[in-house]
Amino acid sequence: MPEDLEGLKEQYLRCVRCGQCRSVCPVFEVVKNETATPRGKVFLAHLLATGEIEANAQVQAQLSRCLLCRSCSRECPSAIPVHQIVTAARAELAVKAPSLVKRLVFRKIWTRPRRLALAAGVTRNIQALGLDRLGLYLRLLPPGFALPGRLPRRPAHTIIPAITPATGETRLRVGYFLGCSTNFLLPGAAANTVAVLSSLGCEVVIPPELKCCGLPQLASGEAAAASALASANSEVFRRLNVQAVVSDCASCTATLKESPEFDGLKVTELSELLLELIQKYSPGLKQIQKPVTYHDPCHLAKAQGITAAPRELLRLTCMDFREMDGAADCCGSGGAFALYHYRTSMSILNKKIANIKKSGAEIVATSCPTCIMQLRHGLAAHGCKIDVVHTVELLGKTLGRGT
Ligand code: SF4
Ligand code: SF4
Repeated sequence: MPEDLEGLKEQYLRCVRCGQCRSVCPVFEVVKNETATPRGKVFLAHLLATGEIEANAQVQAQLSRCLLCRSCSRECPSAIPVHQIVTAARAELAVKAPSLVKRLVFRKIWTRPRRLALAAGVTRNIQALGLDRLGLYLRLLPPGFALPGRLPRRPAHTIIPAITPATGETRLRVGYFLGCSTNFLLPGAAANTVAVLSSLGCEVVIPPELKCCGLPQLASGEAAAASALASANSEVFRRLNVQAVVSDCASCTATLKESPEFDGLKVTELSELLLELIQKYSPGLKQIQKPVTYHDPCHLAKAQGITAAPRELLRLTCMDFREMDGAADCCGSGGAFALYHYRTSMSILNKKIANIKKSGAEIVATSCPTCIMQLRHGLAAHGCKIDVVHTVELLGKTLGRGT
């Protein structure tokens, strides 16, 4: 189980309210209100823990104004893990002032793959009938419902075999953690992950009994559900006896790495594994001709400290790789944040879109499905014809293994 507020007491008591975290918080930059600052949220969590404020909808609303992007946690001179404190405060709120809707979605549906698949199927049918557009037009649905775009007809787990052998000699047996977002939103990226790993000598196993990584539950305060998911998933991989667990979703990878239930299992970030294999075995790589830039997902750059490997991969595979300004700035997605706080999310996103345009790139590569969804939404809203792809999709093309 992640630390609760009591366990984080020493941490939040160390906050000296210096305000350094304010300067890096994308939410504060837009909202410009002290309650939206990281230190404001730490203080709120403190008051909640001591019972000086009641657990109510107002506190819930204030604590929901956090992307869990971790910019503040990295910036804080006292190394206060603000994102953990916010997560723990949300868990406390979920117990003291539960939201029935969140409980239904994150505990009852999202934890069960069949129910989640059913919900995705219903969404697909609603989209096919155009009812989502009607609902958005009539303002019966919140604008954030437009974010995922059209769901692909078939999720990844229905098109990729449970075991894909290595092409040629088997160098590694990896367990592929196929996360919910990749599965339902980006089956093409999932197919590329498997094809690229296989072409580099990996036998790829996708256990059919895998569940969500637990991040949506953690972020919504359902800590016990998140722990149960991590336990179930780690048991699956232990039984498979794989040499590494890998995921193409930055958020899933960060969550698995930080889950105590995964202790003893080797969780490897995809771009680092691919770079290692490419450097070791030097496969022939074709070059992508179009100018490409890269967006750092917060859960890769800030949560895992990984910024070099994806860039190295792109430099190896793209004729014209160019950095954009503010590549590490949050895109404003933050999972359900964009749904709850659509306008704030879009204001944060606008800055990113301006930087993408300024870079002159025709393709944006990144490695987080929700960032991809958010960037595509923003670029379409700005009328930009710039592709947003997962880094592994470019690699699939350059290795001649893309789908
Ligand atoms: S930077 Fe750290 S110590 Fe300073 S106000 Fe923010 S959380 Fe508190
Ligand atoms: S995690 Fe990100 S959004 Fe949340 S308070 Fe810190 S900087 Fe702001």
